[in-house]
Amino acid sequence: MSALRVPLVAGNWKMHFDHLQATYFVQKLSWLLRDAHFNFSDAEIAIMPPFTAIRSVQVLVHSDRMHIKIGAQNVSSLSEGAFTGDVSAEMLQKLDCSYVIIGHSERRKYHPEDDANVVDKVRATLAAGMKPILCVGESFEERRQGIELDYAVGQVRDVIRDLSDKQAENMLVAYEPVWAIGKGNSATAQDAQDAAAAIRGLFARTYGERVAQKVRVLYGGSANASNAVYLMQGPDVDGFLVGGASLDPLEFSKMIRLVALVARKRRKNAQASEEESTH
Ligand code: PEP
Repeated sequence: MSALRVPLVAGNWKMHFDHLQATYFVQKLSWLLRDAHFNFSDAEIAIMPPFTAIRSVQVLVHSDRMHIKIGAQNVSSLSEGAFTGDVSAEMLQKLDCSYVIIGHSERRKYHPEDDANVVDKVRATLAAGMKPILCVGESFEERRQGIELDYAVGQVRDVIRDLSDKQAENMLVAYEPVWAIGKGNSATAQDAQDAAAAIRGLFARTYGERVAQKVRVLYGGSANASNAVYLMQGPDVDGFLVGGASLDPLEFSKMIRLVALVARKRRKNAQASEEESTH
């Protein structure tokens, strides 16, 4: 079934690149992929620039008809009002954002972002017609205690209860063990698969198997072109949320091409086993 989910490679630029650097990057990325005859239906690509660069990236993507989606790194749970420095979901949707990262561990750490306002942000994002990328994952302490899966699944459970089936289908979850983010050492392929399967299992128990098979679960935490194929060994890992490796167009384009390769292989295997079962 994973063969039917198009993987997503989403670049979380964090606080890097002004709007000029951002447009230069996107042009270079697009050129590298076209030069490699990349088939854009194999994998979805998204860039999450800082707020200040979203408009410039949007204009470029539209004028050059690039197959690159745009996302935001954060959103307000409120729709308008006297909230200095905040940006609403409607504002992001008007800039053609498709995705919003919610609950990233850096926002949970450096800003007062907790499970309660993560729920509200997810609802605001869905209501505006965009897809949340909900970030969850244990710190080193939970891993040491051996409760990493319960912890990550618990973070998802609090957020997804009371969604409609359609809203649940539109959720993406990024399993990002905090200890692996920006450290150069990723989790193992087995860790990524176990967490992705546990998260999908929660969706299956809550919304049924049909919805669960539509939800994309990404891995994040020191993923790059060298470990992308390895980290996607498990069938429940549907791509990546990428920090550091998304800041270099060459590295990022390699990673996207490798994810597409895995997706093609999965499709081929699924077709073969379907043919086998009909004979
Ligand atoms: C992230 O911060 O979402 C992330 C995955 O970062 P990195 O790839 O740099 O570990």
